[in-house]
Amino acid sequence: MTRFFLTTAIDYANGDPHIGHAYEKIGADAIARYHRLRGDDVHFLIGMDEHGQKVEQTAAQEGIAPQALVDRLADRFSAMWQRLGISYDQFVRTTDAMHRRGVQALITRILDRNPDDFYEKAYEGWYCVGCEAFKQDAEIADGKCVLHPTRTLEWVEERNWFFRLSRYTDFLRRLLSGNPQFLQPESRRNEMLALIDRGLEDVSASRSRLAWGIPFPKPLSSGEQQTTYVWFEALPNYLTATGFPEQRGPAVWPAQLHIVGKDITRFHTIIWPAMLEAAELPLPARVWGHGFVLFSGERFSKSAGVRLDVDEAIARHGADALRYFLLREVPFDGDGSFTWERFDERYEADLANAWGNLASRVIAMVEKYRAGTVPHGVPDAADAADAEDIARYHAAMDGSRGYLLHEALRHAMACVTRGNEFVQSAAPWVLAKKGDDEALDAVLTSLMRQLARQAVLLAPFMPERAQALWDQIGGPGAVLDQRFHHLKDLDAEGWKVHKGDALFPRDA
Ligand SMILES: [Zn+2]
Repeated sequence: MTRFFLTTAIDYANGDPHIGHAYEKIGADAIARYHRLRGDDVHFLIGMDEHGQKVEQTAAQEGIAPQALVDRLADRFSAMWQRLGISYDQFVRTTDAMHRRGVQALITRILDRNPDDFYEKAYEGWYCVGCEAFKQDAEIADGKCVLHPTRTLEWVEERNWFFRLSRYTDFLRRLLSGNPQFLQPESRRNEMLALIDRGLEDVSASRSRLAWGIPFPKPLSSGEQQTTYVWFEALPNYLTATGFPEQRGPAVWPAQLHIVGKDITRFHTIIWPAMLEAAELPLPARVWGHGFVLFSGERFSKSAGVRLDVDEAIARHGADALRYFLLREVPFDGDGSFTWERFDERYEADLANAWGNLASRVIAMVEKYRAGTVPHGVPDAADAADAEDIARYHAAMDGSRGYLLHEALRHAMACVTRGNEFVQSAAPWVLAKKGDDEALDAVLTSLMRQLARQAVLLAPFMPERAQALWDQIGGPGAVLDQRFHHLKDLDAEGWKVHKGDALFPRDA
């Protein structure tokens, strides 16, 4: 069985989950579910990034301990992922003892194998607590971090452990230019190659005066014990989740896919591979840098005050409709906008009127004309037409062209459109009136095969509604236990349909 270990970025424990967090989890979940339907051995890791100055400051403002703050937020995030049907296998937290041990083991391993990769240096620069990062001049506008215009930059002067990132310049250039799949989409890869060409600076790996973090395993020459810089310990979560330095976690390193936002591509495709190379450990196979969900053209962010309540969006048309809308409307290789009007339009047109209506009409006709039992039939032109869209669906989902989830949905929904056209042109009610039983059987069975395929193709995107349809059409077992490679032989003859509630009620 092919292993497929995929991860999302771990979410920073500062504020509630927003639509940007949700978009990434939903996209990764669709990919995880897609691979399960291929029959792969999937391990889907998500989690929380819980250390750092910002957490410490927020907890202090609330007058609670940092651990109490991150415990509360981890509960809120995991509850949100339950509501959105995120089928993760493991939830890592950087305050876990396993993570702490793994980070220290990783740094110790670098110190053993490439001791010159860490050195002490006095450093000064503008530090953005929002980013938990030192900012270069190009990232500062009007004296503020461009990503956090409401926060004040701090001038930080301290002596830290530095990681010799510059030593890995040639290694990283070879990695990114020699293996185009390592970082996609292409636009992200070009950005990173340009960054490498401008010259990589060494990065701070530890901080002083920060209590809320993981002790850096080696003290400074002065004897000062420092804390591991938050990014330097967050990135290894993907490795520590496997039980590193032992192999006793549920996942097996290396990961096949990291899914991250485009704003943190640099950390995942420059710093992280360099850290792994320094530790002489295998690299992840691929990194996908997705874009952002915008609201009226602006990025959602707590600091910029642009908000959309995820629970309100779920309440509007259900979790699956929100999953569908985000992945259909916001291209996974770029940015896209959320608007309530567009959400309502797509819900009505694509889900209620197209898919839901097709399902209810076909099931009603099998009940009316064949007492609820699917008759005998053989593959026809509709199966052949669907096969072309299904091939394109796979090409958009299987990684061969990257992860173009919006395109996969377009091809799945093309099958739905074709199904509705087929009902109109075949006019089963005319065949019933004429008493042409053979032709009516063929049409009804063809439509049932189409519905069954649609349920499987759309299951990664709308798992709960796909299962509801699967139940109504009398499919065997659970939809998530189906396998794509069986779809071409799918035969619904003998299935017993039972019309249930509308899949996508209007005025929900
Ligand atoms: Zn910032």
